Amino acid sequence: MAYAYDDQNIFAKILRGEIPCDKLLETEHSFAFRDIAPKAPEHVLVIPKGAYVTWDHFAAEATDAELADFARAVGKVAEMVGARPGDGGNGFRLIANAGEDGVQEVPHLHVHVLAGRPLGWMVQPR
Ligand code: 5GP
Repeated sequence: MAYAYDDQNIFAKILRGEIPCDKLLETEHSFAFRDIAPKAPEHVLVIPKGAYVTWDHFAAEATDAELADFARAVGKVAEMVGARPGDGGNGFRLIANAGEDGVQEVPHLHVHVLAGRPLGWMVQPR
């Protein structure tokens, strides 16, 4: 299945520097910045620099270098916000919404890194 990437989405504009963001981390293939409407004391969005819409799109078409860089960037962000359980942090949650049922608002792959308080159940009951 082919994905059509909309290069006018808000995260594409952030990557191009057309709109500001509170940047936390930049690597060769990834970028991380704070969510504008945080749902937890720490709420960071990690995105690949490449034009990928969803996780499955990224998994299917990204290079191994992009995949490894992105996975490590997410781990680095968890470390930067002090949430790594292995370092005595209290832990974190990763969320990657995709498509309509996932309630994805921005059509550029992003992983939410949430931390800083107990985060409750994974999903709301229906
Ligand atoms: P989604 O619902 O697509 O998984 O999450 C999109 C996220 O992007 C939301 O948590 C929303 O607050 C965040 N967001 C939307 N527009 C902007 C923006 O212009 N800047 C930043 N930093 N975050 C944004």
